[in-house]
Amino acid sequence: MNLHEYQGKEILNSYGVRIQRGIVAHNAQEAVTAAKQLTAETGTGWHVIKAQIHAGGRGKGGGVKLAKNLKEVEEIAGKIIGMQLITPQTSKEGKKVHQVLVAEDVYYPGPSETSEFYISVLLNRATGRNMIMYSTEGGMDIETVAEETPHLIFTEEVDPSVGLMPFQARRIAFNLGLEGNAFKEMTKFVTSLYTAYVKSDASLFEINPVLKTSDDKIMAVDAKVTIDDNALYRHRNYEELRDLREENAIEVEAKAVGLNYVDLDGNVGCMVNGAGLAMATMDLIKQAGGEPANFLDVGGTADAARVEAAFRIILKDPAVKAILINIFGGIVRCDRVAQGVIDAYKNMGTINVPIIVRLQGTNADIAKELIDKSGLDVMSATEFQEAADKVQSVLD
Ligand code: GDP
Ligand code: MN
Repeated sequence: MNLHEYQGKEILNSYGVRIQRGIVAHNAQEAVTAAKQLTAETGTGWHVIKAQIHAGGRGKGGGVKLAKNLKEVEEIAGKIIGMQLITPQTSKEGKKVHQVLVAEDVYYPGPSETSEFYISVLLNRATGRNMIMYSTEGGMDIETVAEETPHLIFTEEVDPSVGLMPFQARRIAFNLGLEGNAFKEMTKFVTSLYTAYVKSDASLFEINPVLKTSDDKIMAVDAKVTIDDNALYRHRNYEELRDLREENAIEVEAKAVGLNYVDLDGNVGCMVNGAGLAMATMDLIKQAGGEPANFLDVGGTADAARVEAAFRIILKDPAVKAILINIFGGIVRCDRVAQGVIDAYKNMGTINVPIIVRLQGTNADIAKELIDKSGLDVMSATEFQEAADKVQSVLD
């Protein structure tokens, strides 16, 4: 589950990570009220207005703006809320902005220069350990840094049995070129950041930039936080942080009817029982020259109602040019699935894309007969390869 910047920052703050403070606002008036409150609490005169969407690069797209007085707060918030924000990370249509974060300006002048760093916490899948990835090149696109100046990216792997050790926190602060109070602040920052990552069951923290202010405080100016969905049951209070407007509409609908669905870019819709078979089916479609339009695991009980729900979900994707149903009848009998497909098809009236059904396992022969005799525009197959070839033949 992805969070908005303001939600991610709240979680960080609750674990003692210093953040650029802000208040979320849904319209220009709320933004002005928020700005006044922030001034009272933090003494800030200037504010930054930050579009809250699930995509980065907002600054480049015009979604992060500095306001030097309340009139500008009102004007800028009014402009950003409701806009269709296009950034390097959104589609070309962009994303609608429903709310902004009104934040204190933390780039104020002072005794030293400000500097921006990049710090993320994530799982290194190769070693099975969490790691802190960091760079002196903050505020920039980290992919560009990785490509052009990879020697400026450092990593610190954490041994899960002892957690982040003090010497590691110090090494990070040292490699970032800090000294004095900023050095101490950074060791505190990364230590609490790592604790927050573990305790919140996150799968990604990306803080870009982490700012050293002109008076040597270290704080998170941005926060990209992803929580591991499989751990959400341990954090019931996070459930309300989910913003369905930011998620893929078809995936949200599939989830509501209990289907395991992931939207993909191809043109062959897949309906499969079991995640492993679904993966194998997608591989086979690719091998035969097609591209899967989705991952869809209908689960163990592929009855007519579920098959119909799955059909409806798959057909919502306008890119789908053929549907491959690949079901292994182990616990569920193939003839029942076949009947489910036939009933669903009849129920749905017209389905304008060719359907290839491959049923294998218990009563597969009866199932094939049912499909072949149904008079519907459905092709049957018993072999895996045969099914994939039939899909290819209808696409050509
Ligand atoms: P992103 O573009 O979506 O990654 O959004 P960020 O939260 O990283 O903000 C983009 C940029 O806005 C940052 O890199 C900063 O340079 C700038 N910015 C953020 N907060 C402030 C602030 O308080 N004052 C000023 N002057 N600039 C800020
Ligand atoms: Mn950023």
